[in-house]
Amino acid sequence: MRGGSVGAGGECGVLGWQLEKWALAKGRSVVKPWAFMARIPVILVAVLLLCARSAWGWEWRLAKLDGRDFVPLENVGAFYQFSGLQVKAKSFSMSKGNGAVQLVGEAGSVEVFIVNKTTRVKINLCFGVREHEGELWISRMDLAKVIDPILRPKEIKLSEPVRTIVLDAGHGGHDKGATSRYGCEKDYTLDVVRRAKKHFEAMGLKVVLTRSDDTFIALPERVRIANQNPNGLFISVHFNSSGKGTGLETYTLAPSGVPSYENDGPRASDKMTSPGNARDAENIALALTSHAGLVNDLRMYDRGIKRARFHVLREIQIPGVLVEGGFLSSGADARMIESAEYREKMALSLRSAVERYQTALSARMNVVSNQGQAEQGRDKGSRSVGKPVGAPAGVDN
Ligand SMILES: [Zn+2]
Repeated sequence: MRGGSVGAGGECGVLGWQLEKWALAKGRSVVKPWAFMARIPVILVAVLLLCARSAWGWEWRLAKLDGRDFVPLENVGAFYQFSGLQVKAKSFSMSKGNGAVQLVGEAGSVEVFIVNKTTRVKINLCFGVREHEGELWISRMDLAKVIDPILRPKEIKLSEPVRTIVLDAGHGGHDKGATSRYGCEKDYTLDVVRRAKKHFEAMGLKVVLTRSDDTFIALPERVRIANQNPNGLFISVHFNSSGKGTGLETYTLAPSGVPSYENDGPRASDKMTSPGNARDAENIALALTSHAGLVNDLRMYDRGIKRARFHVLREIQIPGVLVEGGFLSSGADARMIESAEYREKMALSLRSAVERYQTALSARMNVVSNQGQAEQGRDKGSRSVGKPVGAPAGVDN
């Protein structure tokens, strides 16, 4: 099994205990991992002992709100060693490192921001922050699938060193994609990936393009190409078009149980588990480094990191993101996109995103590649829950 160390659906991990059955009788409970240990198959004991060591002594309070598990932000802040949670009206903030990194947001909103001295990045949570019994709460799904991989990228398991970048220029051939008065999405995306190819090759990485000219490539073929590169990252480049929309957004695959941002409400397909979900933790880490870089480098309006079930994100077996580099339907965005300078900045930004991703996950990658035993539960000391360390992926201290 690949993916993050913290599973929302009962996987091994700090919050990955199957809590629903026994921890929620009173609507708010203390998690006791050892109570769960008696129920697990013997074959999993070795792996779970590692997790137990991590979770031991940590008390998570849970509440069931609308049938979903939530955790108090106060509890989250303490776990990740943020200083005290500040709540003013409906807004909250917590910081660590004397304000070097802040997490801010608002009750009733899905938007949270990771802020440091130079960057303010918006992340759209899966379910948003809730008020309950005088406290602010975040869903266990958001904690496991968004917050933890971002705040503790070095805890992401089974990440291999990146050797290949699969660059996917959206559209092509008869499929022009979005258009502006200046040009077509299919040409802009191809130009960006051609530029990015040079920069990635200069880093010593192998680069594979799903298309290198103006041909139509079906989505399954793009997936097939991506999956031929097991140590790769997949970056799909697109430009947007919609009404009065403007700015940048980065998509990552919706975890199982999370609605797609594209839909108006819950759907049966939300429960779908796709091949790409094996990479949930890496996906969100790559989304953060990509999106933070684009927002910082391109200085466009930040629409945030979002989740969807686009075919290419669903079916790839390597970590991947889909970036939308502005709106061709917006006059101002379209003028920027038309300039070679903007597209070059975008290409350079993608290279930096991969560098930050590699750095953010490097400790874990080194452990795995050098010892090959980390996932066996023998890497003592590197999974201490009591002392979560490391800057958020892509947000430098
Ligand atoms: Zn597109």
